[in-house]
Amino acid sequence: MATLQGWVSAACQRLRVAGIDGRDASFDVEILARHALGWTRAQWLSRLRDQAPDTAGGMDALVGPLIDRRSRREPVALITGVREFWGLDMVVTPDVLIPRPETELLVEIALARLADPGRPWVIADVGTGSGCLAVALATEMVHARVVATDISPEALAVALGNAARHGVSDRVAFHETRFLDGAPGPYDLVVSNPPYIPDTDLAALAPEVARHEPRSALSGGRDGLDPARTLLPVASARLRGGAWFVMEIGVGQSQSVRDIAGGAALEVVEIRPDLQGIPRAVVMRRGAGP
Ligand code: GLN
Repeated sequence: MATLQGWVSAACQRLRVAGIDGRDASFDVEILARHALGWTRAQWLSRLRDQAPDTAGGMDALVGPLIDRRSRREPVALITGVREFWGLDMVVTPDVLIPRPETELLVEIALARLADPGRPWVIADVGTGSGCLAVALATEMVHARVVATDISPEALAVALGNAARHGVSDRVAFHETRFLDGAPGPYDLVVSNPPYIPDTDLAALAPEVARHEPRSALSGGRDGLDPARTLLPVASARLRGGAWFVMEIGVGQSQSVRDIAGGAALEVVEIRPDLQGIPRAVVMRRGAGP
């Protein structure tokens, strides 16, 4: 009788043929199969050597369509419909950028800079997408009020759902607008993961990103910094004296963002690397003066 492991090996082989790296392939197969079966990781690991589950049509009928989608390089998160961010399940659709682990750095920094999580902080999240930053911050800072903006009504619908899912709808307000238009603040903290991929790099993105994630969440113009050029002065003008602006950037953008910050009366306090050592999160502060 075919074991579950045997089925897994064949599914991994299909993903490898589709250009997905071996380690990622077995991880993806596990996630997709567990999603279809409703199994925990412990159940999965303990049953790998057993006979494959004998559901109607077997594993091919149950999980095969998901493996087909993955072999067309659809991201796992869009197949399962969720991605974990800051320990919270976020619903994702093709209308939003799938939350990345490096973006959790912005949450970590925000919590460290605001220090007292119990104060009624006033926070803005510009270009909220799935709402991951707004929702994570609201769950951590239980008296904070968050304004989350996006130009995409479809993205805002997803973000609204994520706020409800995590019980923070009463403290997160969503606005369909550009940057902080119509959301004057003042804020104790602004966070943003704006689009920052240079136009010339878009074609070289992995098929998962290029074909399945919204271009409007990725494309940052010629050098990737067009959104930052608009956003830094806008954020600066809406921060209280001494307040923080934490923004994600792309590869090689540190010096340019320092220059833009200088022109927007923002002091760059630090630029934190992500787990791959790429400078990723820019921590800026508005001068303490009036
Ligand atoms: N980090 C994303 C990527 O590399 C880009 C996100 C963004 O432009 N904000 O695909």
